[in-house]
Amino acid sequence: MLTTNPFDDKLKEECGVFGVWGADQAASLVALGLHALQHRGQEAAGVVTYDGKAYHQYRNMGHVAGTFDKPKVIKRLKGGAGIGHVRYSTTGDTALRNVQPLYADLAMGGFALAHNGNLSNAMTLRQELNRRGSIFQSTSDTEVIIHLLATSQKDTPVDRLTDALRQVEGAYSLVCLMPDGLVACRDPLGVRPLVMGKLNETTVFASETVALDVIGATFIRDVEPGELIIVNDDGLRSFRPFEPVRARPCIFEHVYFSRPDSIIEGTSVYETRKAIGAQLAEESPCDADIVVPIPDSGVPAAIGYSQASGVPFELGIIRSHYVGRTFIQPTQDVRHLGVKLKHNANSALIAGKSVVLVDDSVVRGTTSLRLVQMMRDAGAREVHMRIASPPTKYSCFYGVDTPKRSKLIAAQMGIEEMRDYIKADSLAFITLEGLYRALGDERDDAAPQRCDACFSGNYPTSLTDHEKEPPEQLSLVANK
Ligand code: AMP
Repeated sequence: MLTTNPFDDKLKEECGVFGVWGADQAASLVALGLHALQHRGQEAAGVVTYDGKAYHQYRNMGHVAGTFDKPKVIKRLKGGAGIGHVRYSTTGDTALRNVQPLYADLAMGGFALAHNGNLSNAMTLRQELNRRGSIFQSTSDTEVIIHLLATSQKDTPVDRLTDALRQVEGAYSLVCLMPDGLVACRDPLGVRPLVMGKLNETTVFASETVALDVIGATFIRDVEPGELIIVNDDGLRSFRPFEPVRARPCIFEHVYFSRPDSIIEGTSVYETRKAIGAQLAEESPCDADIVVPIPDSGVPAAIGYSQASGVPFELGIIRSHYVGRTFIQPTQDVRHLGVKLKHNANSALIAGKSVVLVDDSVVRGTTSLRLVQMMRDAGAREVHMRIASPPTKYSCFYGVDTPKRSKLIAAQMGIEEMRDYIKADSLAFITLEGLYRALGDERDDAAPQRCDACFSGNYPTSLTDHEKEPPEQLSLVANK
């Protein structure tokens, strides 16, 4: 999200989108789809529907279940077409005006837009649009797309949308509703996922396949990088309106972000995470008594680590499911509290053992520090930490919430220093080569197959807004 300070630590958001065309009652399906995407954003949710004449909207802070489980809310959202969005932003500006789908009454008719990703030149475009007289209603980067579309001189709504999208840089997986139909579009790099499915006569788009599963829809295919699809009662049309570039889908979707029961790019996220764990065991073996995952995010990789190494897998940490994700807390203090609330040592199992703890990633180091200590308090003899991703050294500008570099422990410390900080007996991260291998690729730095900027600093777009960043972050640009 954009706030008055574009370089605020709290700009990034993680989101999920969902859209349907040709349903009896779109709102119920959208609500269910968003429910399955809740892990992608827990701060707010919204739905916009279209009944052929009018648009209907409802947005609220909080979880999908707290809002869209109410029959009177669903009843208000009339029509057979609808889109929805789940949002998470760490921004202090949690105003309802930023909750998507965004909606505008334009000369061409109503336009509703739900966006997953982050535009890396939104601030620059916004300043230019402001100068030309645009009045912004939100502080969201997404809103620039609406203003660019509103001011486009092209003839048709789809051409105007294309015209707008050709001017933005960064990551966008979009679903939009307009009088011509439901539009789904993925940026040319294909950074964020977007899939298409079918439920009888209803066409469905979703950030992840789990959202198709929840309504019993069949997966048809991925929306391809750089593809724009429009669906209406006349059928489906696919366009390739952008200059073709080598796709760079986000590697972190496989590591952490997507649900393990989703299929991304034709592969099971769960199987990939197990393969990552197996690769990690091969690269950094450990002669311990048990492999313990940090639940839930570390579970598949820990299973892979255990199966490859022969060290038994045990649930040495039990997670309470009644608190949100650790990371998604507004302040550092509460984050610490969150970790304590969320995880508890299975002491009877841990006492006297040498433990390999497996987690998917280290960001600030908060979780590792707390859980290594928790293992020691529970009587572990040794605590070894293994991480199923390379050190996160660079911020993400494409829609995953990572803090600025100064808060990323791996940007500040070497591995031995980090080991000392989290007080583990040993610490190892999978290599980037190993991560690519687990995904079935060979790492090719000259022509990367994925966006791995959070690990390598190799950003797939220019960082137009961020080139003006304070000196602390200038190295990001230098590392492009
Ligand atoms: P930290 O405690 O700051 O080192 O964060 C690491 C923990 O946060 C790991 O257990 C990850 O599973 C989780 N995590 C990593 N990236 C994210 C993210 N973008 N949003 C929420 N949680 C995350």
